[in-house]
Amino acid sequence: MNIPQDLAQLQIFPKRRFQVYQQRQLHKIELVKRLPQELQFDMKVVASVLPFRVNEYVANDLINWDNIPQDPIFQLSFPQRGMLAPEAFERMAELLKTEPTAEQVFQLGGELRGEMNPHPAGQMSLNVPELDGEKLPGMQHKYAETVLFFPAQGQYCHSYCTFCFRWAQFVGKSMRFNSNDADTLHRYLAAHPEASDLLMTGGDPMVMRTKKIAEYVEPLIDSEAHEHIKTVRFGTKALTFWPYRFVTDDDADELLDLFRRLVQSGKHVSIMAHLNHWQEMETPIFEEAVRRIRATGANIRCQAPLLANINDNADDWVKMWQKQVQLGLIPYYMFVERDTGPKRYFEVPLYKAYEIYRDAIQRVSGLARTARGPSMSAGPGKVEVQGITEINGEKVFVLRFIQARNSDWVQRPFFAQYDESAHWLDDLKPAFGEEKFFWQEEYEAVSSEA
Ligand SMILES: *Cc1c(COP(=O)(O)O)cnc(C)c1O
Ligand code: SF4
Repeated sequence: MNIPQDLAQLQIFPKRRFQVYQQRQLHKIELVKRLPQELQFDMKVVASVLPFRVNEYVANDLINWDNIPQDPIFQLSFPQRGMLAPEAFERMAELLKTEPTAEQVFQLGGELRGEMNPHPAGQMSLNVPELDGEKLPGMQHKYAETVLFFPAQGQYCHSYCTFCFRWAQFVGKSMRFNSNDADTLHRYLAAHPEASDLLMTGGDPMVMRTKKIAEYVEPLIDSEAHEHIKTVRFGTKALTFWPYRFVTDDDADELLDLFRRLVQSGKHVSIMAHLNHWQEMETPIFEEAVRRIRATGANIRCQAPLLANINDNADDWVKMWQKQVQLGLIPYYMFVERDTGPKRYFEVPLYKAYEIYRDAIQRVSGLARTARGPSMSAGPGKVEVQGITEINGEKVFVLRFIQARNSDWVQRPFFAQYDESAHWLDDLKPAFGEEKFFWQEEYEAVSSEA
């Protein structure tokens, strides 16, 4: 008998129950109990300020517990002392030693979070679109081609990344912005013919049931009013933090069928996978999730920030990009860690980010050189550090907009004074004695209106 090859090799993956641990359940994780008491206390202090949530797949299958605390996935999902300023750490540590009430902990936590720039790049005020004179807080429309939608039910993730720039929305309702109005989304898209892409984001839209996801994207299929929407993207970490979402979860097949129908209707479907480290790509279930998604005709593109203590060396990026290309994933962005939250622990100076990018990109085939970066998603746009060079005796950063609030700014080189302490666009000063960058005045005018 002739057994088709992929059937012969078919792996059966047993269903896995999704189990998650949050803030006050740290001590319940078996493997954590084995760590030194001091380290456990440090983690408890930080988890009282910053959001913590880990599922048992990440904890058991991705972390190498023989390599604590250096293990990159441990750093990526478990709280680390260095994430808080020493003063903030001490304040919470002192409080915890007094057997405080939950209310007291929450209150101090809130105060300390408030000091950590919870909403960078004008997320709350600058990019909120309007429809018929009404603000739509669950959307962002900053770049003409792409509308971002934050479904209300997708404002958390299967596990939380310790460096997350969306961290503020995971604690307390007051800091959240989201939307549950599918109808508004569809009307907004219909009214914006300049938009070609819908980007479903979060948190993680893949925490939603397929039925819910379908409410948002299914109406785009064969809809004349939405013919201009050519691409549906889903930003997600589920591919590596809960690959069962695409394989054995109850509605996994239904989800893949939805991708397939979108593709068959002529839409490009792109899973924007958030992938920080090659160690996330080592399990058979991950490979199976990739295989199943790709079989629907959807593409997978990968993006991640460059992070101290996790992936701040070229070797890890080379290994990750090579593995991505091998599995048919497309490297897309290397980001600079944003100016928010526990950045003090994760930030990498721009000059070093550029060196790591350059070193890594030189060592991969052209198929992996689709990764752009290092890119800062700042107020005026996505700014890439393109190089470091010397012009007329002055050492400078060469920069360009990959995306900009005004599309006319895109792809015009501009220059900043070389500065080894610069970590973000705000730290940079124009080179050659200029007062301002070419885009600065226009940007300041827009920002002050909001
Ligand atoms: C990154 C980003 C996008 C998408 O940009 P691409 O370069 O098309 O991937 C859209 N909107 C916002 C606000 C973004 O930050
Ligand atoms: S998956 Fe993305 S949104 Fe979710 S915690 Fe990680 S970085 Fe944040």
